[in-house]
Amino acid sequence: MRYKLPGLLAMAALAIAGWASSAAAGPAEVNLYSYRQPFLINPILDAFTKATGIKVNVVYAKDGVLERLKAEGANSPADAVLTVDIGRLNDLAEAGLLQSVKSPALEANVPAPYRHPDGLWYGLTTRARVLFVSKDRIKEGAIARYEDLADPKFKGRVCTRSGKHAYNLSLIAAMIAHKGEQQARAWLEGVRANLARKPQGNDRAQAKAIHEGVCDVALANTYYMGAMLTNDKHPEQKQWAASVRIVFPNQGDRGTHVNLSGAGVTKNAKNRDNAVKLLEFLSGDSAQKLYAAKNFEYPVKAGVEWDPLVASWGRFQADKINVVEIAKHRSDASKLVDKTGFDQARGGS
Ligand code: FE
Repeated sequence: MRYKLPGLLAMAALAIAGWASSAAAGPAEVNLYSYRQPFLINPILDAFTKATGIKVNVVYAKDGVLERLKAEGANSPADAVLTVDIGRLNDLAEAGLLQSVKSPALEANVPAPYRHPDGLWYGLTTRARVLFVSKDRIKEGAIARYEDLADPKFKGRVCTRSGKHAYNLSLIAAMIAHKGEQQARAWLEGVRANLARKPQGNDRAQAKAIHEGVCDVALANTYYMGAMLTNDKHPEQKQWAASVRIVFPNQGDRGTHVNLSGAGVTKNAKNRDNAVKLLEFLSGDSAQKLYAAKNFEYPVKAGVEWDPLVASWGRFQADKINVVEIAKHRSDASKLVDKTGFDQARGGS
């Protein structure tokens, strides 16, 4: 059975209905709280059930899973959580809501930088935070590193969403992890000084701004390029995307910053073994290929085929720092955004 009732009320209703109280006697099942949308995971969960006979009950949520798990405590019906972003995974782990899983399959499939050292969660896809650059106004090779965004030659030419957004916080945290807080701050101040406008909008809005000539280079996640190029509902986005080129930063040194989607088994999982099986399945070849391709992301497992559109942007070297190291610096990153007044920048050349 699949529920499409987002939000806490739906979860509460399901819990009250005794949704998961039949673990011992009933059929093999696993209960999943998912931040990931149905279209992304339904086909994969169906394949899992087909392969294992284990039924997957899903509650989709837009927010509040951490609070819900805390409130439910030992009575939580959830066995596993599927989510995006280093910050969210880390917050669940720090709150003690996940349990350690040791699995040879997961350890073989998920590279060490993309999983918690104690197995509290495992990355399932990576998403690269790259530069979208104007095809017309930025020459090949003219910008190659995140550091270049602070170069005075890009004054009045840089766009981004809020510095406080999770994607940018992870990037800034990675900068702190690699270069220390002082250099990260100098960089952020340099980027701020180069902004064409106050940080605003989402990642797609930055491509639109480049298309409209508002700026020449922006920070964005790769999968939005795929989402825009294939958007038949809003075909104007195809034009935004067509006016920008993807640059994978820092290929000559530490590699491009990547964020994760991932999953963990809950502390109080009643169907623990089934939850581990689900994670193992999600890290395996067929699920990896499908899961990554659905949202134009990258599989974490080496050797899994990329979606052709994703592959057309080129291979790249990802930053291999363990994402737990990045997560440690997220609150400092947030403070840096405040201290530098990044989001209050007025922009303009
Ligand atoms: Fe996103």
